[in-house]
Amino acid sequence: MLGGDNHEPNSAVCQVIQNNKDWVGEMQAKNPEYFVDLAKGQSPKLLWIGCSDSRMAVDVLTQTNPGDIFIHRNIANRIPSEDLNVLSVIEYAVKHLKVEHVIVAGHTACGGVKAALSNDSVGILDHWLRPIKELYVANEDEINAMPEHERVDRLGELNVIQGVRTVSKLPVVHEAWKEGRELRIHGWMLQLHSGLLKDLDVSVAGPKQVESIFKLTSGAH
Ligand SMILES: [Zn+2]
Repeated sequence: MLGGDNHEPNSAVCQVIQNNKDWVGEMQAKNPEYFVDLAKGQSPKLLWIGCSDSRMAVDVLTQTNPGDIFIHRNIANRIPSEDLNVLSVIEYAVKHLKVEHVIVAGHTACGGVKAALSNDSVGILDHWLRPIKELYVANEDEINAMPEHERVDRLGELNVIQGVRTVSKLPVVHEAWKEGRELRIHGWMLQLHSGLLKDLDVSVAGPKQVESIFKLTSGAH
């Protein structure tokens, strides 16, 4: 049972709780008002939509602090345009927090993308990953022409690019642009072998980069 300090000594959970206490102590030693200030509110400039993979430790790999990045993560950083969870996160970040950047971030050797490229069943994930299979089918010639070890990462990149396009078509994003706000959507890949983030150069900075059918002329969505 979890709760209080009753964790099994030396367990991973016990270690995490202890790490937290150590961190709180360090932060308070540096600035006694740190948590008082942090509790007042947040105004992050970035929304990060990434994979749940444990290696995508956003705060660590970007050297950012609590309050800097609003985060949504799921397996294979999917952005289904009918998914209430991701849509709620995007709407809150764009409309209320007024973030200036949305980053769709995949990573190399993504287990979700790898599973989508395979014929093995992975339970309920078969449904979640199906659109990545569709993406493969749509780009089959390009992917099949690549050496096998590059295919997962290329499909992962295409998945990120599709995510950027999906976000750039959302009504809440177009409303922000209509208000004249700065809002850019970026596609990045975390290269696990080097730790570096690769910019896929697919950023969208305004409605001119989106097919006109998605532009809004009036009213709220
Ligand atoms: Zn992943």
